[in-house]
Amino acid sequence: MELNPYEVAKKQIDIVAAEMGLDPNITRYLKRIERALIVSIPIMMDDGSLQIFEGYRVQHSTVRGPGKGGLRFAPSVNLDEVKALATWMTWKCSLLKLPLGGAKGGICVTPRKLSKKELEKLTRRYTTEIINIIGPDIDVPAPDVNTNAQIMAWIMDTYSMNKGRAVPGVVTGKPVSIGGSVGRNSATGMGLFFVIEAMCEKLNIKLELQKIIIQGFGNVGGWIAKLLYEHGCKILAVSDISGGLYYSEGLEIDKLLDWTQKGNYLKDYKDKNYKLISNDELLTSQCDILIPAALENQITEANANDLKCKIILEGANGPTTTLADQILFNKGIKVIPDILANAGGVCVSYFEYVQGIQAYFWDLDRINKELKRIMLEAFEEVYEVSKERKISLRTAAYIIAVSRIARAYELRGIFP
Ligand code: NAD
Repeated sequence: MELNPYEVAKKQIDIVAAEMGLDPNITRYLKRIERALIVSIPIMMDDGSLQIFEGYRVQHSTVRGPGKGGLRFAPSVNLDEVKALATWMTWKCSLLKLPLGGAKGGICVTPRKLSKKELEKLTRRYTTEIINIIGPDIDVPAPDVNTNAQIMAWIMDTYSMNKGRAVPGVVTGKPVSIGGSVGRNSATGMGLFFVIEAMCEKLNIKLELQKIIIQGFGNVGGWIAKLLYEHGCKILAVSDISGGLYYSEGLEIDKLLDWTQKGNYLKDYKDKNYKLISNDELLTSQCDILIPAALENQITEANANDLKCKIILEGANGPTTTLADQILFNKGIKVIPDILANAGGVCVSYFEYVQGIQAYFWDLDRINKELKRIMLEAFEEVYEVSKERKISLRTAAYIIAVSRIARAYELRGIFP
């Protein structure tokens, strides 16, 4: 089975290149990354032992602007995963017409096993190791799986101390009090919400009547769960790494968020009506809208045939493999692809970057209005191309995104 995300990312380029008749030279170039840095991060642990972690920063393409992409702390992180995530960021920024390129970073670590002090040391040493290839005009990290505003603040501080001046623009997703943007935390969830609302309108169905299942209950899964719950949708199941909870009458999302935000696992939540289910069962349970919002490679050729939803809204990056995608297309399941669906995060990161440069900060109302405008513009464009060419929303999104990148290479030329 094709479970290497970078192989999936390259296969997606081949599919779209064939569909749009892309210049083979450009196709070959797009399947390469511009730059990758692998670093060793030695940390003196609280117990006096030395542990050495491996970290990465990858820039896939900066042809349309500085690199932009999250930083992930997880035991599954490896170079190919980071390369794939950086590649997907290139398409996402291009699809939204943001003047930014694609990048990503990660450290292979289980952050729950570290104390706060150890986590801070890890973040600061990683920042120091990659300091020459990040910066406001070079590559700007942001939060991703298991990283948050506090970690961004440590990166900003370490970078600033090394440069001898405050450089808030080195990261986005910072706390608001040091130059972060309001609405960044909820941005990916808000973006997902705007896109699914628009999709329901196209299909002439009422969003509030849809039954929803969500895999992953962190920043992305938690926010979209909250927004849909408050909109009146029934959320039949949610899961985290510990497993899932299912209730056919709908879960009380506010109480579950309260529980997990205190650091608890979903599997330990007690309610006599709720059934404990595995992540595999969750994905194949009957619902209208399935939202994978955890990690890549969750919907594969092994389970795609068993899915019983009508729409998949990709909150996570790369949750569906290319073979699974084909199966879903044949089954008539509409997949709203990651590079469109979850682009709200990078969109508000871009707003944070713009506000920082202008030293003028917007209110939440303006952030959400601008986010909605940009998300809906991209959605309409993707929907129209998909309808016109009778292709999946993913292929349509890729055609638009890749064309813009190819055009940028054409205009800039190959140096020297
Ligand atoms: P997070 O760390 O806040 O939450 C991740 C959630 O997934 C947690 O609930 C965790 O328990 C769960 N999880 C982890 N491994 C799992 C597994 N094997 N099975 C089931 N659940 C599992 O991370 P996040 O920021 O919400 O990111 C989730 C996904 O969304 C990632 O693919 C990320 O790249 C993508 N994404 C995030 C953002 C953002 O702004 N944070 C933006 C765009 C895309």
